[in-house]
Amino acid sequence: MFHAGMQIVTGGRGLFDRRPHKNDHEYVLKVADYKKKYGKDPAKPSVKFDNRYTFDKVSDVYKSGTMHEEHQPSHLVIVDPSICNTRCTEEYGNPCQHFCPASVYNMVEDEANEGSLKLELTPSNCVHCKTCDIADPYQVIRWVTPQGGEGPNYTNC
Ligand code: SF4
Repeated sequence: MFHAGMQIVTGGRGLFDRRPHKNDHEYVLKVADYKKKYGKDPAKPSVKFDNRYTFDKVSDVYKSGTMHEEHQPSHLVIVDPSICNTRCTEEYGNPCQHFCPASVYNMVEDEANEGSLKLELTPSNCVHCKTCDIADPYQVIRWVTPQGGEGPNYTNC
């Protein structure tokens, strides 16, 4: 309580210096840096879901009661999509596929370029956690609020 009081008096500093910190996306490691640090490739965690207390992403979205009108104006905008299919694939391994809890971002076969992958979005799955806007290492994803009343509808059942 004393420290909280001192923070009010000192405009937030309190008795100690604040911990240094960076924006969240600056903590995301490039694949090469990860390998250097941990001596192995970043691997998708192999998690087993019991479908009682833990669920895969698509089941989670279903249980969240998420509803969107399919033709609403997009609430997810990628300012420069060319980065996703080239630089991000090489440098970061497209982390959006992993940090989005609703499987909105997926790398799929690019029919126009055989052997390549391209980013495909399923915005109607979005549960509006805003992680993509915060964690995207290039800061090219813009999340905005969806049109009125849409999104998850959690219940206690
Ligand atoms: S806001 Fe959350 S759920 Fe929606 S696309 Fe971004 S990471 Fe996925």
